Amino acid sequence: CFITFEGPEGSGKSTVLTAVAARLAETYPVITTREPGGIRISEAIRELLLDEKNDMDYRTEALLFAASRRQHLVEKVLPALSEDKLVLCDRFIDSSLAYQGFARDIGIEEILKINEFAIESHFPDLTLYLRVAPEVGLSRIAANNRAMNRLDKEALEFHERVCAGYDQLADKYSERIHIVDASRPIEEVIESAYNIIIKKLK
Ligand code: C5P
Repeated sequence: CFITFEGPEGSGKSTVLTAVAARLAETYPVITTREPGGIRISEAIRELLLDEKNDMDYRTEALLFAASRRQHLVEKVLPALSEDKLVLCDRFIDSSLAYQGFARDIGIEEILKINEFAIESHFPDLTLYLRVAPEVGLSRIAANNRAMNRLDKEALEFHERVCAGYDQLADKYSERIHIVDASRPIEEVIESAYNIIIKKLK
C-alpha cells in the first residue's frame, strides 16, 4: 500500500509520518521515504532545487521535481511495494500539482501531464493532507528555528496559494485524499493519521 503525506510548510508532515510509521511497524512491514530525495540521484536533484544560488525557471523546476520523482519511484517505492511493504512517503505528485501547478501558476493540467509521464499509473493508494493555515505553518518553522531553504523563503502569498491548491486537489481527488486537521496538537494529528491508515488497510 502506497501512502503519501502532503501539506504546506510547517504542517508537521515529517513528524507525523515518523510517529505513525513507528506505530504501524509493530504490525506491518513499513518503509519511510521522502521527496524530493530518498535515493542518491533524487537527493542530488533536491540539492539543485533547494540551493540558494539557483535562480531557476519554473518549468525547469517542475521537470526536476518530476525527474526526481521518477527515479525515486522506480528505485525505491516500486520494489518495496512489490515486496508487499507499506510505503510512507513525505510528499509526492500532489506537491507538484499544488506548488508548481497552482502556486507557480503553470497550471495543474500541465503539471499532471509531465507527472503522469513520470509515474505512469502509480498514484498513491491513500494521501493524507495535513491541513493548516499558512501563517500557522510558517510561524511553527520560525519557532523551531528551522533553517529556511530557497523554496521556503517565498512570500506568505505564495504559501497561501499552495494551501488553496491543496484544497482544490482534496476536492478533485476526494476518494484518495483525506484531510487531517493539522492545526491541533501533534499527538491528536498523529492519532487521526494513524486511524485513517488502519481503516484503509482493513
Ligand atoms: O517537505 P520539504 O521541506 O522537504 O520540501 C522541501 C522544499 O521543497 C520545501 O521548501 C517545499 O516547499 C519545496 N517543494 C516545492 N515543490 C514541490 C515539493 C517541494 O516547492 N513539488
